[in-house]
Amino acid sequence: MDGSHAGASVDAPIFDPAAFRLTEQEAALTAKARGFGVRVLASRAARWDREASFPTDNYRDLHAEGLLGICIPSEEGGTGAGFRAYCLTAAELGRYCGATALTWNMHVCSTLWTGALTEDLEMEASVRAEHRRRRQLHYARILRDGAVYSQPFSEGGAAAAGAAAFGTTARRVPGGFVVNGRKIFASLAGHADYYGILCTETKEGEKPSRRDTLYLGVPASSPGVSVTGEWDPLGMRGTVSRTLVFQDVFVEEDAALMPPGLYFQAATRWPHMFLTLSPTYMGLAQAACDFTVRYLRGEQPGAPPVKRRMYPTKQIAVAQMKIMLEQTKALWFQAITDARPDPSKEQVMRALAAQHSVMENAAAIAALAVRTCGGQAMLKSLPLERIFRDSRCGALMLPWTAELCLDRIGRDALYEKGETDE
Ligand SMILES: Cc1cc2nc3c(=O)[nH]c(=O)nc-3n(C[C@H](O)[C@H](O)[C@H](O)COP(=O)(O)OP(=O)(O)OC[C@H]3O[C@@H](n4cnc5c(N)ncnc54)[C@H](O)[C@@H]3O)c2cc1C
Repeated sequence: MDGSHAGASVDAPIFDPAAFRLTEQEAALTAKARGFGVRVLASRAARWDREASFPTDNYRDLHAEGLLGICIPSEEGGTGAGFRAYCLTAAELGRYCGATALTWNMHVCSTLWTGALTEDLEMEASVRAEHRRRRQLHYARILRDGAVYSQPFSEGGAAAAGAAAFGTTARRVPGGFVVNGRKIFASLAGHADYYGILCTETKEGEKPSRRDTLYLGVPASSPGVSVTGEWDPLGMRGTVSRTLVFQDVFVEEDAALMPPGLYFQAATRWPHMFLTLSPTYMGLAQAACDFTVRYLRGEQPGAPPVKRRMYPTKQIAVAQMKIMLEQTKALWFQAITDARPDPSKEQVMRALAAQHSVMENAAAIAALAVRTCGGQAMLKSLPLERIFRDSRCGALMLPWTAELCLDRIGRDALYEKGETDE
């Protein structure tokens, strides 16, 4: 117990339902997530961080709360949350345990990307019918058994940045595919029941192409799957993002989470799908502000009840944090509201700007919180120290790292499609 629970019953929503005109479903889900965060996540977060261990207990409870199926369409037994409802809910969880919210994101994306998002994409009717049949197999495992899916895409090269075909390959064989390759930073490694990998379908005589990306749900228990390497990082320690190796792993055809070619279409036509790493960090930014206010008011459990709010320098720092938080919230809220198929160039640039702002500002707000609260606030017995380390990790996450957001926004602002300087 690290005192993160504080002020628990009085935590206000990050996005007030009336002020932000949330839907009823969004208001209910965010309230539920906040309650779950306060009740369940907050007091356990220090343990996963200290041990760099996976929050298995949280996943059992997320299943019991129905939160593993949040984005499974309601006709298929889930809650049927859309993109924005998911993002708002995830931000509330991120406020109480970054590692749980981030890994939950990997899991939920396996249902959001195969569910609501694919409804907007083009497919022949027969392909769609087959896709719906297959995804129901995956959804049933989640809803019935509490199966957890992860999302290991990164390989250490340019593929996860969307600039090259994945080096992990899938070769068609009778009844399915044989997968070979290696994924780094695979959150939930050794803990997920299914690894939702992106890989390239190899085709005789053809060069590997991003168009041939397959999205396969590989059972973790398949022969040939192994987890290697250490996990002792700066932050987000409970994600247990070790290396996954696939050596001649056979998976059945029904492992396909999307039909061939559909991931490429999704990545091109639904770019906001890459914004889904940001909600966790939106929550962490809020958590750093919440902590600072409680601490300076002398109300942080675990810290002496000493007030520090009367010092003008502290007040100015809190004002700076609040301004940065409100700027981040406003931009991010608009970006998650913009999400749709075939967004305009302006909407995509706004999404990149939102991602950059959330990731960089979460870390900046947490750094300011540490400076402002002072020495006793950064002890490991209090949550701020963990929030500070966790918040540093967001800007490194592909495909929309802070650097790549800058690259894209700068180029897209200065060049129209097809323009060169030749
Ligand atoms: C806590 C945590 C959890 C993670 N969990 C997952 C997970 O579950 N699944 C997953 O797939 N990944 C995950 N990642 C990995 C993450 O998304 C990145 O892939 C990883 O951090 C990249 O590490 P790297 O050192 O190879 O990155 P980098 O070296 O920054 O990037 C890798 C490649 O991207 C390209 N690139 C990077 N920057 C630029 C640039 N400015 N311009 C052009 N090209 C560029 C380059 O080709 C480069 O070789 C996680 C990361 C963290 C920190």
